[in-house]
Amino acid sequence: MSSCLSHCRHHHQVRLHRRAGPDRPLPAAASFAPPLRRRAGRAHVMSAEAPPGVAPAEPGPGTATQAAVLSEMVEDAAVWCAVHGLVVGDRDNTRSGTVPGVGLVHAPVSLLPARFPTSFWKQALELAPLFNELVDRVSLDGEFLQETKQVDDFTARLLEIHEKMMAIDKKEDIRLGLHRSDYMLDSETNSLLQIELNTVSTSFPGLGSLVSELHRNLLIQYGKVLGLDSERIPRNWAASQFADALARAWSEYNNDRKTLAQVEAEGKINPDGTLVVDGRIVSVVYFRAGYSPNDYPSEAEWKARLLMEESSAIKCPSISYHLVGTKKIQQELAKPNVLERFLDNKEDIAKLRKSFAGLWSLDNEEIVKSAIEKPDLFVLKPQREGGGNNIYGHDLRDTLVKLQKEQGESLAAYILMQRIFPKASLTPLVRGGVCFEDLTISELGIYGGYLRNKDKVIVNNPSGYLMRTKVSSSNEGGVATGFAVLDSVYLTDE
Ligand code: ADP
Ligand code: MG
Repeated sequence: MSSCLSHCRHHHQVRLHRRAGPDRPLPAAASFAPPLRRRAGRAHVMSAEAPPGVAPAEPGPGTATQAAVLSEMVEDAAVWCAVHGLVVGDRDNTRSGTVPGVGLVHAPVSLLPARFPTSFWKQALELAPLFNELVDRVSLDGEFLQETKQVDDFTARLLEIHEKMMAIDKKEDIRLGLHRSDYMLDSETNSLLQIELNTVSTSFPGLGSLVSELHRNLLIQYGKVLGLDSERIPRNWAASQFADALARAWSEYNNDRKTLAQVEAEGKINPDGTLVVDGRIVSVVYFRAGYSPNDYPSEAEWKARLLMEESSAIKCPSISYHLVGTKKIQQELAKPNVLERFLDNKEDIAKLRKSFAGLWSLDNEEIVKSAIEKPDLFVLKPQREGGGNNIYGHDLRDTLVKLQKEQGESLAAYILMQRIFPKASLTPLVRGGVCFEDLTISELGIYGGYLRNKDKVIVNNPSGYLMRTKVSSSNEGGVATGFAVLDSVYLTDE
């Protein structure tokens, strides 16, 4: 196992500039002594050349003692992951995912938690219940969800189900949301800006909680020599808080259902609306899938989705909650006076709006023109979830030019978003038992659990967090898709 020979994350940060400039050399202290193993394709980092647009880092200590400590930490981290189940399927193992308990590897993690200013942390926590409430209010406005032009085939099918529910005036008295609002710190404006709000299959409450524990344990052991305090890592109960919300939803459902419905037929809905599978009444349906077109290979899956929606079971998410989480709705909510349609409290509205980055639909010709001129300042997003779909740089320009020429409805299948530029820092990352350092940026997700039964709000809390850290030269941020590592938060006073 090779080791990380300097630990820069907690000593110096480099700043990403908006416009790409010429490569600038990093000073010697920030470069890497051999024999670090690193991923293919990252040679420019090893050659001590900063990627375009990255200003030089200040020299830091990186003493031999620290190098030895970090090397020991890598090994300890890998062992901790194996012992505590901080593991993922190993893509290199052909039996992984088919034979239970075979082909597992420690999750890709950063060796040290990411610095994050306490003030922004508090702001993000405060936003969680507000976004939960907003999702709930918007979900009740069927017209609003239907009005927004969603022209791609996939979202159109979701809207079709939603429309059917509107037609039968389907009411969801008990509503459960397990959400995650993702943010980056924009270095240009020094503000916390929302990347997106996830309302379906929000990933990593389990592994995210474990990473915080991993870092806490590493700092309890090595914090003194590194000058870091384990107490500055906030506790992360995401997994148990989400489990608790699910359990409470189950209780609400069963308390409400005064008389047990007669089991009529397998997989069918009883006259009282209950969904029956394998002879059991289903109280809560949790969607681990269903957010991507790939999850619906045939009509059977769409039929199943409709069946679940028609039933009285609590859906997490309901079709409305699912739709509120689309990028198109995010963009609509950012328009002037739209939040006011759903919320009364002016202070809450101001807090939410402050976290909105620039968001535009493609019928805004002026913005499309700016994006074609300066594609690096924007992100073009199709109506998709799950990572790997966004369009950047030259591709963004080409796509916009092409879409403009077509002048069809396809313009409405995308949104444009202001590109957020977080500060980059050198971070030791551990993947496959190997540590390597790279310039990284981080994205903080705050989980939010929400449960209500008619007018009674039973749960509405920030419910733990997920920090994801990615190599700054990569545009996308998915851990599962291989772009990022799992991380946790180290609160600072800045
Ligand atoms: P998905 O539904 O695929 O997760 P996201 O909107 O979260 O879509 O985008 C995926 C990734 O792209 C994010 O995790 C983030 O790393 C990057 N990203 C998205 N929007 C922006 C933005 N406005 N500025 C900078 N990076 C962004
Ligand atoms: Mg995302």
